[in-house]
Amino acid sequence: MTLPDPPEPTLRLKIDDAALAGNWQSLDRLSGTAAAGAAVKADCYGLGVDACVPVLRDAGCRQFFVAHWSEVACVARHVPGDQIAVLHGPLTAADAAFARAIGAVPVINSLHQAQVWQGSGGGWCHLMVDTGMNRLGMHLSELSDPVVQALTIDTLMSHLASADEDSPLNAQQLGDLRAAALLIPHRRMSLANSAGIALGPDYAFDLTRPGLALYGGVPRAGLAEHIRQVAIPEAAIIQCRSLSQGDTVGYNATFTAPGPMRVGTVSLGYADGYLRSWGGVGSLVHNGRRLPLIGRVSMDMVVVDLAHAPDLHEGDWLEVPYSLAHAAQQSPLSQYELLTVLGQRLK
Ligand SMILES: *Cc1c(COP(=O)(O)O)cnc(C)c1O
Repeated sequence: MTLPDPPEPTLRLKIDDAALAGNWQSLDRLSGTAAAGAAVKADCYGLGVDACVPVLRDAGCRQFFVAHWSEVACVARHVPGDQIAVLHGPLTAADAAFARAIGAVPVINSLHQAQVWQGSGGGWCHLMVDTGMNRLGMHLSELSDPVVQALTIDTLMSHLASADEDSPLNAQQLGDLRAAALLIPHRRMSLANSAGIALGPDYAFDLTRPGLALYGGVPRAGLAEHIRQVAIPEAAIIQCRSLSQGDTVGYNATFTAPGPMRVGTVSLGYADGYLRSWGGVGSLVHNGRRLPLIGRVSMDMVVVDLAHAPDLHEGDWLEVPYSLAHAAQQSPLSQYELLTVLGQRLK
């Protein structure tokens, strides 16, 4: 049985392809002699692999990072498997067998993972050394182990803990990665995430791994002039209403109309990643006019005050202000969370 196509949705996520491509090109340029890769884990930070990876590929990106093995297939529809690195690495023989079958390259994070990979037949891999995150990655003292020395390492990498701050940890981690490079053969080196790119050429090595800034995030002020907004959520008004003085709006009646007013119910809620923390502080925008939220955010709806937009009706689209650095200042969420919470119904 063929099901009919659904009618036009009442919410959508606009992706500015030119901004995404431009952000990658800016980060690639800021990486100096290093090439910029792209962190595309978590469905491109919530924006959608199918929407973003082809744009990054066509802009010139040749190295893509995911976290899970389950994320590989979707990315491999757009780029060759050997350009996909899996950050969590192979925990089991099944992971290693999958890597071989699909041609993705594991990041080896521990002696156990080195054994799993070598046990499956070995071959090109990346190696994560821990220089201060204490999350994943091998300790420098483990690099002399024969099973590690036997690895065929493409990129020797580490990850910065505090690149978005002027922390002494940055230089210490840089020094530790340089020390690791003397202990183990490798083809390339990589350290910088988005914020790390702004720390300058010492941190760039051969390959940088921006994620957040590709998608419009600004983790260090120095990047602001190079990064454009990519994700623009939009939602339609699905009903307009007139309130009388004393009427209340939404769950727990947290808003009471001070007088007669016209309001609009909008098809966007916390199930879409527009979390309840926006209640009382958030607003939606139409042609530069700010329409404040009133009452609580519901699962599928919010209500806005239409006092400054008497011309708006059912079916008109409103923009969700989502310039990440600014939105994060107004919200308890980080720029990373603002992206990754965006819900499936937007896509
Ligand atoms: C997520 C991730 C990145 C990208 O970090 P951003 O701060 O988003 O630029 C780079 N490297 C590793 C190992 C990561 O896990």
